[in-house]
Amino acid sequence: MKAISGTNLEQAKSHNRRVVIEAVRTHGPLSRAAIARMTALTAQTVSNIVEELERSHLLVPAEAQKLARGQPIIPYSINPAGAYSIGLELGRQRASGVLTDLSGTVCARVERQVEEPDPQRAMPALQAIVEDLQQAFIFDTNRLLGVGIALPGRYADGGTTSLSPHSLPGWQDFPVGHSLEQRVRVPVLVENDATAAAIGERLHGVARGLSSFVYLFLAGGGGIGAGMFLDGHLYKGSRNNAGEIGHVIVEPHGRPCSCGKRGCLDRYISPSVAYEFMGIANAGALSPDDLDALIAEGREGLDAWLDQAVEPLRQTVDFLDFAFDPQTIVLGGSIPTSLMRRLAERLEPLHDPLDPGRKRTVPRVMIGMTGKDTAILGAAALPIFSETNPRFDVLQKPLG
Ligand SMILES: [Zn+2]
Repeated sequence: MKAISGTNLEQAKSHNRRVVIEAVRTHGPLSRAAIARMTALTAQTVSNIVEELERSHLLVPAEAQKLARGQPIIPYSINPAGAYSIGLELGRQRASGVLTDLSGTVCARVERQVEEPDPQRAMPALQAIVEDLQQAFIFDTNRLLGVGIALPGRYADGGTTSLSPHSLPGWQDFPVGHSLEQRVRVPVLVENDATAAAIGERLHGVARGLSSFVYLFLAGGGGIGAGMFLDGHLYKGSRNNAGEIGHVIVEPHGRPCSCGKRGCLDRYISPSVAYEFMGIANAGALSPDDLDALIAEGREGLDAWLDQAVEPLRQTVDFLDFAFDPQTIVLGGSIPTSLMRRLAERLEPLHDPLDPGRKRTVPRVMIGMTGKDTAILGAAALPIFSETNPRFDVLQKPLG
């Protein structure tokens, strides 16, 4: 159970600062007066915060608009070079990292081969990537907010406890965030890939400005998860496992799943099942671009996979829509773009919503980011989100 805890002055100040950044990020450029109107903060508070944000290079003033009378108006916008972030992703054979600026633009990219990515081999590689990224692009390293890591599967207490066969062996209960933080000496945030991608979509993508959406993440190597924003809050569940819907049974007595059950959603709509249908045995060893090319040429077995995947996907969309009443459901993930496109083309007609006559300002289903960068850009969004989002764990603390 969560409840709003008491806010001390320091927290309120930090909260107001985030509210101002969020207003300018979503609606900018904005003048101080416009920020005050939008945030219901006093003119003096806004003035103080804007001054502080300008000093710390997060906001930049645009050219003043001269008025016939009175003071000229100065609109402020987010300074992309005001802060930087690093996103990391660990695959089965390689570790990759990107450095992005505050707008999510990739400034540098580094990859390293990691044979057997157990913690003993992977942690030095991840550390080296963080160090290389700071050399690969010239920027003020004092502006590095931190490092985000996206890990596949379930995540709890700093380690991974995934059920997926494609998750990484040897990582169970390993405190990845804490361990990397000691090596790189900047804040490290760890999330599962679906939640990280949802945060990326909320910050820079199709869900920008939306307060309630569910992001259905299809992992390129296999695995399905949902990241959820409900009423502006990231919803993670009582044990950080909300959205692990890949193992919901959609076909009683259906195909056996790695989790020991039969008929799980994962075994129908996961990209790894598409590769089985298409007879691509070595999908794990192929680059995402190669996989994209194979799918784009319309390989045999693709239609059969689509035929059996589309109804479980419709049911999932329907269930999420009825259960959470989100503004939209975003489909995305590290799934090859051509595979997601083919699946999305087949999705309509969806099952009827609760209120078919309702006027929608946002489509019921949207296609978000796909392809190999989805999780890593989500990872890079974690430190930015944690630093700038007004509702991220600031005023809400779990009671226990
Ligand atoms: Zn399962």
